Amino acid sequence: MKAHNIMEEIVKNHLDDIMANRPQLCKCSKCIEEIMSRVLNNLPARYVTTDSGAMYTLIEQVKVERSSEILKELMKVIEGLQKYPVHQ
Ligand SMILES: [Zn+2]
Repeated sequence: MKAHNIMEEIVKNHLDDIMANRPQLCKCSKCIEEIMSRVLNNLPARYVTTDSGAMYTLIEQVKVERSSEILKELMKVIEGLQKYPVHQ
């Protein structure tokens, strides 16, 4: 079984919410990947090797615990990208 960083799911989830509420943001794969990697670099990874049932329980738990921290990081990275876009 492969180790899996559940922070990826959680960050992606929050990012999808933010994108849905901000039509002005670029949603191309380049920007999404850039945002994801910057945010994941700034947050502690949470690796799991459990089956999907236990994994989803843990995802819900980490979501509740870390939600404000993750949102803060996401907003910081998104604002940075608006000032210095990764492409034209
Ligand atoms: Zn883009």
